[in-house]
Amino acid sequence: MRVHQVADDVFTIRGTDVNMFLLRDGRDLTLIDAGWHGDAALIEKSIRSLGHRPEDIQAVLLTHAHLDHVGALNHLHRRYAIPAYTSPTEVPHAHGDYHESATPLDVIKRLTDRDTLAWAARITAAGGLRKNPVPHIHPFPTEGPLDLPGHPVPVPTPGHTSGHTAYHLPEVGAIATGDTLVTAHPTAKTTGPQLLPCFFNHSTPATLTALDSLESLDAPLVLPGHGRPFTEGIAEAVARARAHAITLLS
Ligand SMILES: [Zn+2]
Repeated sequence: MRVHQVADDVFTIRGTDVNMFLLRDGRDLTLIDAGWHGDAALIEKSIRSLGHRPEDIQAVLLTHAHLDHVGALNHLHRRYAIPAYTSPTEVPHAHGDYHESATPLDVIKRLTDRDTLAWAARITAAGGLRKNPVPHIHPFPTEGPLDLPGHPVPVPTPGHTSGHTAYHLPEVGAIATGDTLVTAHPTAKTTGPQLLPCFFNHSTPATLTALDSLESLDAPLVLPGHGRPFTEGIAEAVARARAHAITLLS
């Protein structure tokens, strides 16, 4: 199964080496991130396995405009007219006006060991080498908590990309950290709370600074963009990610 309940009315969908999250309020859903282009069918199947329909999604919230997070946004918009929102800073990035950090092809060229080559094959099959601009995405319609299922609260976390946003879920004590803080990645050497390898980050020092905005949130449950959920709380996750970052930056 690719879909798991991680808290009351919160589910994780595991795409191709990337996570998405569903927030439920009765019949209605919010989706955080949309995997790779090739993950669209998996997202629909996961939603149906919960007894819902894709049309139940009221909006998709994007953490940032990398290809492994914007994947199904255009499909969900074209097929079901589902809107998508992200931070005002990230909108032009999602529109494809500019690019931040390595392209998947740049990353693949650096890979030599068997695990990362297998990952490269998986993401290529999932549409990882095609451009995927999202013309319909808009900035958040309001400031503060969003009037959407789960009432997610955007937390600006610039660094991994300039307009990266984490989403705090105060009602369940969780934080979706996107790629500001992850717990594993096929190209990383260790598991546990950490930053992604530097070549994925627009600015690794800024990503490290962005952890300051997360650490004091009330969030015993950490839901990263990559890797498994972390249940020892955001403060512990941030402490471990900072310690790990010393190895990345040295
Ligand atoms: Zn990313």
